[in-house]
Amino acid sequence: MLSNDLKALWDYQAAENELESYERTLMNTETRKKLVHQQQVYKNNQQKLKQLEQESMLLQNKMSGIASQIDTLQKQMQEKKDEINEVSGYDLEDMFLEDVREMIQECEEIKASVEVSKRKIVEIMHRLEKSETEIKETLIKMSNAKKQFDILKEQHAKEVAAGKDDLDRLRANVVQAAKGIEPSLMERYKAIKQHRANPMAKLVGDRCEGCKMQLPSGVLQSLKVEGSIVECENCGRILFVAED
Ligand SMILES: [Zn+2]
Repeated sequence: MLSNDLKALWDYQAAENELESYERTLMNTETRKKLVHQQQVYKNNQQKLKQLEQESMLLQNKMSGIASQIDTLQKQMQEKKDEINEVSGYDLEDMFLEDVREMIQECEEIKASVEVSKRKIVEIMHRLEKSETEIKETLIKMSNAKKQFDILKEQHAKEVAAGKDDLDRLRANVVQAAKGIEPSLMERYKAIKQHRANPMAKLVGDRCEGCKMQLPSGVLQSLKVEGSIVECENCGRILFVAED
């Protein structure tokens, strides 16, 4: 009775394998692979877009920072110029003339700083332009990937729909095969399934077919006991002795 259970479990594993293999086939069509690829392309570009937008924001902040620096510098320069203009009409003593020279010198320095800042702004504007172009390109790539994805998704849905009858039949087989298997045995099978694709393995000669390990004589002995359920000591699979 229990040994029949193992035969039933063996058949169940076969039915489950057939179903899983068919599911894999449906999930690994060329269409599906392309679909996954386009999804990746979209995600990569989305990531890139985020970086570009961040970079662009930083550049804009930097630019307005420099612009306000220029403002301040220009105000300072205007003040200096006003001071110079104010005294330019006077008859100046040597000491005072020295001060004016210093003011002019300061003016020159401010002017030079403004020039440097302006060059920086031009450079940032170039980078912003480049960044904007890249953003546009990235958005186009994303939009193309999305279009491709939608088309492929529809195609794949058709593939899945076409396989539905077969899938239903294979699922029904699995349900059918599960009938009559003791729940405790099924539980054990499912527990092994967590880490083994095939929880059952045939005994071939004195070896477990799952891991090819030679089984100790004690294990071989217990396999001969009617109704015993023995797991391979090495891989943990339930051993199955075929009738023939
Ligand atoms: Zn094994």
